[in-house]
Amino acid sequence: MRTDRRSILKGIAGAALLPWPGRAIAAGGLAVSQVSPKLALIEGAGGNILVLETGEGRVLVDTGAAASGAAVLETLDELSDEAVTAVFNTHWHLDQVGSNQALGERGATIFAHEKTRQRLTAGWYLPTEDRYQQPLPSAALPTETVFTEGVTTIGGQRIEYGYMILAHTDGDLYVAFPDLNVVAVGDVAAPVRDPVFDWFGGGWLGGRVDSLALLLDRSDADTRFVPSYGPVIGRAELQAEHDLMLELFERMVEHVRLGETAEDMLTTGVLDNLGRTFEDPYRLLYDMHKGFWAHHNKLMPDIV
Ligand SMILES: [Zn+2]
Repeated sequence: MRTDRRSILKGIAGAALLPWPGRAIAAGGLAVSQVSPKLALIEGAGGNILVLETGEGRVLVDTGAAASGAAVLETLDELSDEAVTAVFNTHWHLDQVGSNQALGERGATIFAHEKTRQRLTAGWYLPTEDRYQQPLPSAALPTETVFTEGVTTIGGQRIEYGYMILAHTDGDLYVAFPDLNVVAVGDVAAPVRDPVFDWFGGGWLGGRVDSLALLLDRSDADTRFVPSYGPVIGRAELQAEHDLMLELFERMVEHVRLGETAEDMLTTGVLDNLGRTFEDPYRLLYDMHKGFWAHHNKLMPDIV
């Protein structure tokens, strides 16, 4: 049984493009599918994890939640014998960095935005849980950071990464594989779950609109985007999400200027007729509203 699973998973990680989409179930109930030849997606370990085989070490985008750590490591071992030499963190939330320590201890270089390194090094406060998150152990911390953008080549695979300013947190990084035309975007795209704005951690709707526009600018009709949650999406879906966020921004600017609270906006119908409904409309409005006030000096040129 285990041998069968291992051979299926190795097939996903291999060179040929399999007739996917299909999913194989791996350790701990994690689901593994193939995005491109040599590029696999692990779902169910907290946030999505991308795994690229380069022939000179594997590259991961995000490492899932700590609770799934054992299953993630077992799945990685079943996918291939190639060592993980590089990890990219799309941001500093706990469902993206859970196996950083284990992979750092195995020798992986951890790439991230400088703000992500700072958060993980110093710890941070979680207002919704009213607790302070302790810093991560030193092996889990990013060792290669950027403020704006960077590029590296591993095993002949070009990897471009860059800042998505204040789109979800203050440390969001896209990770692009131009040879495969695939871009990991972390929690800056939310095709399935409600969009999350960590306003206390620096994210806000204005940053989200700009960052989605940036992703559209640097892509073409065939680019595929990998969010932290949900399936791989195409450019049309990312464009739709950008347009939705822009519409929300334009609506909310007016309502914030009228002095409305998030509760008021729920009543006045700010989220009505958007072509999309939300699981927790109040939470979404509350977080976006908080973000607006953190950036109130940018609302309109004629605000005063
Ligand atoms: Zn997040």
